[in-house]
Order: sequence, then structure tokens, then C-alpha cells
Amino acid sequence: MRADASAKQLFLRHALLPGGWACDVLLSIENGFVTSVAENASSAGAEIISGVALPGLPNLHSHAFQRGMAGLTEIRGATQDSFWTWRQLMYRFLDALTPDDVEAIATFAYAEMLEAGFTSVAEFHYLHHDEHGRPYADLGEMAGRLAAAANATGIGITLLPSFYNFSSFGGAAAIHGQRRFTNDPTRFLALLEKSRAAIAGVDDAVIGIAPHSLRAITPATLHEVLASFPHGPVHIHVAEQVKEVEDCVAWSGQTPVAWLLDHESVDQRWVLIHATHMTVEEAAGVAASGATIGLCPLTEASLGDGIFAGPSFLNAGGRFGVGTDSNIEITAPGELKQLEYSQRLRYRIRNVVARNEGQSTGRALYEHALAGGARAVGRAVGSLAVGQRADLVVLDLAHPDLAAVSGDRWLDAYTFVAGRSAISAVWVAGRQVVEAGRHRRHASIVARYQRTMKRLVDL
Ligand code: ZN
Repeated sequence: MRADASAKQLFLRHALLPGGWACDVLLSIENGFVTSVAENASSAGAEIISGVALPGLPNLHSHAFQRGMAGLTEIRGATQDSFWTWRQLMYRFLDALTPDDVEAIATFAYAEMLEAGFTSVAEFHYLHHDEHGRPYADLGEMAGRLAAAANATGIGITLLPSFYNFSSFGGAAAIHGQRRFTNDPTRFLALLEKSRAAIAGVDDAVIGIAPHSLRAITPATLHEVLASFPHGPVHIHVAEQVKEVEDCVAWSGQTPVAWLLDHESVDQRWVLIHATHMTVEEAAGVAASGATIGLCPLTEASLGDGIFAGPSFLNAGGRFGVGTDSNIEITAPGELKQLEYSQRLRYRIRNVVARNEGQSTGRALYEHALAGGARAVGRAVGSLAVGQRADLVVLDLAHPDLAAVSGDRWLDAYTFVAGRSAISAVWVAGRQVVEAGRHRRHASIVARYQRTMKRLVDL
């Protein structure tokens, strides 16, 4: 889906601008980007949007294919279930996935993201090879399928081919279940170039890299890859699991976050996914580095990872955004709510992310996730301002939870009460992709997804 090349104007009755709430905003758009913003303007000649217009939220962490597993891992096994038993099931599920399957599932997941308040996605892409672990004739085959899913739905994409070389700290050989992920640095860098070519046909797409985790690399191979990618986003899973932290200490004498801060030039282009288990000193170190932390609250809850140390990171001025990760449930307001509620449960206090008296928690969560998400995806998104992509999520002012309130309370109602049911329309790059809460290609995308899942579940 290409951006609309023609110039157009949208008239927003209510909008959240960088300076706060505004009325009667005239947004001029060319080639998908905002060229001017005028408040208290006339609507003459413009398309009128009468709801509450928010900048679309970036989803900074997705493994699209995992959407197909949602709901399939909720039966207790013979041993105590954990992240690690879930991972065994995930490896079995992807044994059967073809490129067509991945495209069908990713298209469905991306359409759902748009319906649920996300207008960009950072796809942490590690399913590279065929079911036998052999590279496809085109190393970028799977990257092309994700690009096709982005084009079919209109979502903005940052594609992050994942560098996955080993099974555990210190270069332990990859196991059978990881055969579709693994590359040495040379083949990974070739795959990166194929992936760059694969997204060339997607408007405004960005390429980054994703060293999978410190488990999956050695320092030497990580350095080789980073040396060949000096600019652009770098995402890595870190300190998600207690066992991962313990194994890292056994290997290096340091926790994963401390090791990264000590050994790599962690800066603003880095995104540390999860960082669930951090000391106060590590939280301050990450905040000072300028890196963004990518929180995935629904997945972290689903997998029993633990709860992020929110207050110490916020006190240090840290930057975060949110991601849907396993895509167990795709919802932008739901991720923000789970984040705040998990903090309340851990610290037994309320309104944790809002830092000042009188501040709205819904707005604090949303603005943190906009700024951190925009940094993480490395694209001009996250605010309704000149030079930014015209990505809008419009809330329905007739929704019973929004009708009687205004300003920040719209965001509190959206986040904590109404959720995605409050979304009426979504625009990406100046083009409407969701109307009446549904993606415009909803029916055909769902039909293809259902055919795919019927076959996969019956296998
Ligand atoms: Zn992940």
C-alpha cells in the first residue's frame, strides 16, 4: 500500500499535538508527511475527522509469526511450565511454517496492530531458513514476506533481521530447534543486504539489526556484525529471564545489562528488549546511555518473566516504549494498562508512571511510549508535527467512556477502560487504513489467516 502522493488536508476537531491538546487543527500532508499544522483553523476544503486524533503509537517489538501460536500454549505440561517450556512449543510450531504461512500470519497480525492503535512495527525477524534449516534460494525470502505483509496492510515497518549464531553463552552450538534461525556473521551480513532489498518497495521502511541475545552470539561475532552496521537501530533481548541472568553471570561474571554497558557502545540507537531484571545501578546506566528499553508487558506476563523495575528507571530519566512481542493479544492501550498495573501490583501503589501531582497516567504512558517507540523504530513518527509521517489513531467521541470527558481523561479512558473498542479510524501516511474499527481489507486478510491456521493446527 503506497503513501498517497497527492497533497491533502485533514481537519481534526481534537488532536494531541506536541504542545498539548488542540482544537480545529488543519493538517496539510504531502507524500504521506505533515507539511503544516495550523490550530483554530477553518475546515474549508479539508476532510473532517470529528473524533480525538492521537499520533499513532509505534510497536517496537514483534515476532509476527508468533501470532499464530496465541492461545495454543495455555495447557499445563508434565513439568512446571515456564518460558523455557513455552520456547519448546514455539520451536515445534515453526517447524511447519512455510513462507506463505508466515505472510498470511504476519498480514493478519499487522492488520490487527492497525486496528488496535499501532501504526508502525519493529519486526524482530529471526525465522530465516526452511524447515530443514537450509537457506532459501533467496536469503531474503522471509524478509520479503514480511515486506509484503507491511504493504498489504499499510503499517510502517522497521525490519530487524536477527543475528542468531549459538544456543547459549560462550558459543555453545545451536540446537535442532534453532536450525531455522542461525547464521554465521558472513551469511548474516549477506542476509541483511537481501533484507534491505526486500523492504525497498515499502514506503519509508527502515532496516536495523537485532543480535538476538547475549545467549545467541559471542563477543567476537557480535563485534563483526556491529562493525558492518555503524548506523541504524540495534535491538537485543536482554535480562528477560532469571536463568538467563544466572547463565550470563556464570559465563562472564556480569549480568547481561552490566556486560552490555561495559563491552558495547550502547547509545541512542540501541533498544534493550525487556530488561526485566536490572539493579538500580543498571537502570541508571541504561538511562544514561540514551538507549530505549522495549517493554512487552502482556508477553512478559504471559511468559512469567517478571516485572520491570519501573520507578528506578523512571527516576533516572529512562526512555521506554512498548511492543507486542509474542502477539498473544494485540492492543496498544492494553500494553500500556498492563505495564501500569504490573507496577501497581509489584510496588503496591497507584499511578506509578505519572511522576507529578495532577498528571494523568494515561497521557504519561502514551507520551513515553510515543517518544521511546519513535526512537526505537528509527523513523519520523510519534508526533503530529511538520516533517513527521501523518500517522493518526482516532478515538470515537461517541464511545460511552469518552463522551462525557475531555483532554487527558480521553487517554485515561482509552487506556484503562475502553481499550481498542474506542478506536474508530486509523490513518497511516495520510491514507485511511481502518474505518469503523476494522481494517479496510479485514475480510480477505482474516479468511486467508483462518485457512492457514486450520492447516497448521490440524498438522
Ligand atoms: Zn522477543
